[in-house]
Amino acid sequence: MIRKITELIEKNENRYLEELKEFVRIPSISADPKKSESMIKCAMWVKKQMDVMGMENTEIIETEGHPSVYGEWCRAEGKPTILIYGHYDVQPVDPVELWDSPPFEPTVKNGGLYGRGAVDDKGQILLHMKAVEAHLQAEGKLPINIKFLIEGEEEVGSENLVPLIKDNLEKLQSDLILISDSSMFAKGMPSICYGLRGISYFELRVRGTNGDLHSGSFGGAVINPANALARIITKLKDEKGRILIPGLYDDVLPLSDEERRVFADLPHDDEKYRKMLGAPELFGEEGYSTLERVWARPSLDVNGIISGYTGEGAKTVIPAKASAKISLRLVPNQTPERVEELFRKYIKEITPPSVEVEIESLHGGMPYISPIDNPIFDVVREALKNGFKADSVTIREGGSIPIVTDFKELLKSPVILIGFGLPDENAHAPNEWIDLENYQKGILSMAYLYEGLAER
Ligand SMILES: [Zn+2]
Repeated sequence: MIRKITELIEKNENRYLEELKEFVRIPSISADPKKSESMIKCAMWVKKQMDVMGMENTEIIETEGHPSVYGEWCRAEGKPTILIYGHYDVQPVDPVELWDSPPFEPTVKNGGLYGRGAVDDKGQILLHMKAVEAHLQAEGKLPINIKFLIEGEEEVGSENLVPLIKDNLEKLQSDLILISDSSMFAKGMPSICYGLRGISYFELRVRGTNGDLHSGSFGGAVINPANALARIITKLKDEKGRILIPGLYDDVLPLSDEERRVFADLPHDDEKYRKMLGAPELFGEEGYSTLERVWARPSLDVNGIISGYTGEGAKTVIPAKASAKISLRLVPNQTPERVEELFRKYIKEITPPSVEVEIESLHGGMPYISPIDNPIFDVVREALKNGFKADSVTIREGGSIPIVTDFKELLKSPVILIGFGLPDENAHAPNEWIDLENYQKGILSMAYLYEGLAER
């Protein structure tokens, strides 16, 4: 049965590319209010794809913002149900002069398709849809039940997604949620991502005096808030890269020996990495490798500092205020609530009495981990192996995808991230592209996956 499907997938390679081009041609920039018509056009395009391939109960779900698209095929009685989530909106294209070809005129070059949204996330949604389509074309049915939820606000924070999920709990019920909106570790290494970091983001505002002061008349009599802020910041981390907030590491889930071995086996080269970044030396928490630091250890960074005179020439001033934006990346099982509590308490302790400090929490997101020994991973591995003719690797990501934890908590189903992008495909940047071999192999492996899940 699967042979018929894979043959069909091979035969239709060109059409799949043409359809991806059509999809990329729609300038669905969710952040741009002038593009609201394109957003609707794009949602309709997705719905039409679903209708034509034979998905049922397709609909455009209106939200307070841009609509989502839903479709399902749920006639495989007694078989598992998966929910595939993705987004049809794309990032803005600025700076447009840095694109080698116009962002909404999809261009094939060196085995890749260039255009905004090619990999993030249009190519990755469409490959699932084509895998489903191939099953329906070859067999007239699917081996499992499949639901699609494709939203239009991922690039602007998915604000209306949680309310939408809450309103549609029953409709979205599934045994497994699949998200393809990330990258593989490297070309030829299909990857399953099982962990994400969370985030806690704060703004610190330090105030010294009523207004800026003349540094000749007053210098030496009062503390300078910029100096005070610098003192606070230096007390947040030690020279070995360890965060000094008491209790911060208490909830950190340690890496297992097996995880450390798996990470160590990945083809990561510190020296290459250092060169790529242009850094004189890599720096991070002592006792951990680079991948461990980025994927599985908390980090703390100043994201910006503002204070005093920063214009041209000299101005002798003691600023009245200084502020910094500081964020922490969290790992399982830390929570933004607990981290905020610890952060506030510690800042209070280390703030010099000669200034006042105000802390605002800007946002927080939970870290995510799915149990690596879940047997579903074996089915996914098998499918990726069939599609890519290569062994897959299990990885984590240093970034945060807040909707992943929302899905897990609201729908109570495990989430698996299978990224088909490559790390250098310029998502969010000029010259975004998708590797067409990965696109095609992605379709093939997902066709195997649906089959594999049915047999499980
Ligand atoms: Zn995305």
